[in-house]
Amino acid sequence: MEYEISDPATAKSTKAAYTRPNVSSDPENELASVIASARELLQWEETLGGAGFPAPEAISALETPSGGPGAHPYDEDTAARLQVLAEEAAECTRCELSRGRTKSVFARGTPHTDLVFVGEGPGFHEDQQGLPFVGRAGQLLDRMVAAMGYARDGVYICNVVKCRPPENRTPLPTEASACAHYLISQLDLVRPKAIVALGRCAAENLGVVPPAGRWRGIWGEWRGIPVMPTYHPAFLLRSPQFKKPVWEDLQEVLRHLNREPPKRGR
Ligand code: URA
Repeated sequence: MEYEISDPATAKSTKAAYTRPNVSSDPENELASVIASARELLQWEETLGGAGFPAPEAISALETPSGGPGAHPYDEDTAARLQVLAEEAAECTRCELSRGRTKSVFARGTPHTDLVFVGEGPGFHEDQQGLPFVGRAGQLLDRMVAAMGYARDGVYICNVVKCRPPENRTPLPTEASACAHYLISQLDLVRPKAIVALGRCAAENLGVVPPAGRWRGIWGEWRGIPVMPTYHPAFLLRSPQFKKPVWEDLQEVLRHLNREPPKRGR
């Protein structure tokens, strides 16, 4: 089955794995490549806010084209169908999560894009505003998106479940199953060139977590669309030392999309 619901007992695992990049046997090349990686990492750290959050100007100063060269042409039918689904989700009572919601949280960004991010489920701020990733984790995600060279609304962002789980817990398999209809339809309608699964819950629900071993940074596939699983921005807020492997994952996604991160003046 292409869409799998997995045991949530492991959903919040934060085990990290980092593979040392290949280095050349030529010391000069090796040094140049180490310097280039260090410079890139510094820029990334700066964008995400090494010791906190950078000033918003640091992001708006970036060149942030929207959509992406591979984005499919704007299709009114797609937008209309997504709108119907969003209205359905707003009234949805398929699971218990609907009882506790202020607003259902369907998506933000544009369906006219080559890149989709899938998170876990709405938190407090998302539930209040009816938009995904608008709290602290969302601000960090915005910086990740900007560092990749996309406008804030140049990607499509949604979650496994559309209603806030109590105490922000991981959605239960039954809740994710009840909500799967929306996520499947969203991804099928947007048909991006790549999906980034934010956190283990999203990765599991997209069926890209191997039965054992490392799960982040390894391409999987959802209905023919490449999926890159990486750490959730909320985890990065608690454990900023893992920003580096996440940047490597996002760079891998950019390579797949034939895009380069924007050059930043210093
Ligand atoms: N975390 C998520 O996984 N999704 C959101 O929308 C917000 C926080």
